[in-house]
Amino acid sequence: MTGRILIVDDVATNRIVMKVKLTAARYEVTPAASGEEALRIARGGGIDIVIMDMMMPGLSGAETCARLRADPATAAIPVILVTASDDTEARMEGLSAGADDFLSKPVDEIALLARVRSLLRSREEERTYEEHSGPLLGMQMDSGFGGFAEGGKQAGFAAKPAPIDGQIALVAGGDSAWLLRQRDRLRPLFREQVSVISRDSVLSLDRDSAPDLFLIDADLGAHNEGLRLMSELRSRQATRHAAFIVILPAGDSERAATALDLGASDVAYRPFPVDEIAMRIRTQLARKRRADRMRDTLETGLRLAVIDPLTGLHNRRYGLHHLDQIATRCRAQGIRAGVILMDVDHFKAVNDTHGHLVGDRVLSKVALVLKESLRGEDLVCRIGGEEFLAVLPDSSLDQVRTVAERLRKAIEALNFRLDDGSTLSVTMSLGVAMLEDRDDASTHALAIVDRALYAAKDAGRNQVQTASLTSG
Ligand code: GH3
Ligand code: MG
Ligand code: MG
Repeated sequence: MTGRILIVDDVATNRIVMKVKLTAARYEVTPAASGEEALRIARGGGIDIVIMDMMMPGLSGAETCARLRADPATAAIPVILVTASDDTEARMEGLSAGADDFLSKPVDEIALLARVRSLLRSREEERTYEEHSGPLLGMQMDSGFGGFAEGGKQAGFAAKPAPIDGQIALVAGGDSAWLLRQRDRLRPLFREQVSVISRDSVLSLDRDSAPDLFLIDADLGAHNEGLRLMSELRSRQATRHAAFIVILPAGDSERAATALDLGASDVAYRPFPVDEIAMRIRTQLARKRRADRMRDTLETGLRLAVIDPLTGLHNRRYGLHHLDQIATRCRAQGIRAGVILMDVDHFKAVNDTHGHLVGDRVLSKVALVLKESLRGEDLVCRIGGEEFLAVLPDSSLDQVRTVAERLRKAIEALNFRLDDGSTLSVTMSLGVAMLEDRDDASTHALAIVDRALYAAKDAGRNQVQTASLTSG
């Protein structure tokens, strides 16, 4: 993984020493001699990490860090501050300015490089989300069909409500009295719920109950047990996106490197002042929430690209892709699959008589009934205004016809109660075809099932026609 690192130090020798260490590890390094210069370079873009001296004439490291955080263009760039002393006050100043970490001079090379790797990794993730969300959200704009599917109607999937507070979990292993003390100290400092969880119950957390952040001792009961537990949690669906802060014995920078490489977002050495750990927790929570937001944007974008907003069914794009895939599977595995094309009869009249809103409600209900009348492995999608396509893998022609007839009856039996007390019902015409073993299986099936549907319309609507009878 390459990355561009901005080194900020007023002393030229320090810049050179740092540059040698980082270029040896194949990072690209840009030097800056002051906070002001650093801000200018960072705003220009392309910087992945800032490593900055705390004590500089003019803008100090902490001040520069605070300004980077305040500017949206640079707010997400991780910052490591370097100090000559182990001065607690300086650490607090740096952390409250939003620094991701603090290193003391002389800088321990292993700890430095592990920290850089870890920060670059999360930076890389954020980038990926950013890059993918943009085009996807753009694509959503042209994926509707005509004037009806657009306009922000999202009946099919409600947005996930964001949890208001969140949760910070202190994982208990050996010394639980100490943990309980930490919990009591942290509680007044956070809106989030702060709780002590036993290591066993941590492993049975599901996605909804998973905390945003774990504080884990590297040695949870036994040597390295906490590190092992963290790796385990990082590999699980429910907890992989949580932030992890690993607690280490004072001076154990070697295992700090291990912890960061195993996926810890931060480390803290015992004994830490509660303010310091609180600050680290805040920084990690902010980073985690930013990543969550980006992931949500990406997932929403993906969903919007394949889902029809009115009915919540998959859209034409997805349906045709799925049909292709089933056709390929049929050829490879020698199985059979059926296709049903459906179109609501005289639907224009529903709109004309009762208005588009009623028309929309009818379509949503028809979609729901179709979905509920099919098996889990079948796909039904909305491929046009009042036109639906179902794909039924592992089915014979007889079975597909039976299913089509069942769908027809289910729609015919529907009664929509209108505002004026009257009821409305609709029917639909259906064409049925089998996927054949040929190169253009999906295109061919669509063509003949379309003809079958027309035949059903011609023959008086509200009926099923099979392609083999019409395509000769
Ligand atoms: P046929 O039996 O031959 O299928 O007649 P039809 O009236 O159903 O067919 P036609 O294709 O003439 O009209 C389809 C109508 O469906 C026209 C359009 O206004 C309506 N429609 C398409 N999409 C939507 C939608 O999302 N909402 C509503 N309310 N109406 C839609
Ligand atoms: Mg129609
Ligand atoms: Mg139509």
